Amino acid sequence: MPAGQGIFQVQSKENTYIVDIVNKQCECRRWDLTGIPCSHAISCLRHERIPPETVIPAYYSVEAFATAYANNIWPCKDMADWEKTDGPPVAPVVYEKRIGRPPKARKNKHMRFKKEMDLS
Ligand SMILES: [Zn+2]
Repeated sequence: MPAGQGIFQVQSKENTYIVDIVNKQCECRRWDLTGIPCSHAISCLRHERIPPETVIPAYYSVEAFATAYANNIWPCKDMADWEKTDGPPVAPVVYEKRIGRPPKARKNKHMRFKKEMDLS
């Protein structure tokens, strides 16, 4: 249902959402978080005869993907060719094993209470 100035009230199965197609926001927050319009927003865009694919940000485009991966990821040299530094040697972490049996996971409160009730 349009409310004017690009604001809509969308009735979903159980919930009602407020959609703002000017600021590209919906109360369900999917549009805000992903940049891709949610089903509520698409219904509003269709009402305004705006193709939903036109509001998707440019960073989802094939051109943006191609630009991001245009450069080479340079491979590493062999470990023997690595430059030696005077830093301390990196050793694995030493784990201490605790004495005794590891503690059991506790039963939930309700079960323990029931057991106490049965005893009395
Ligand atoms: Zn939504």
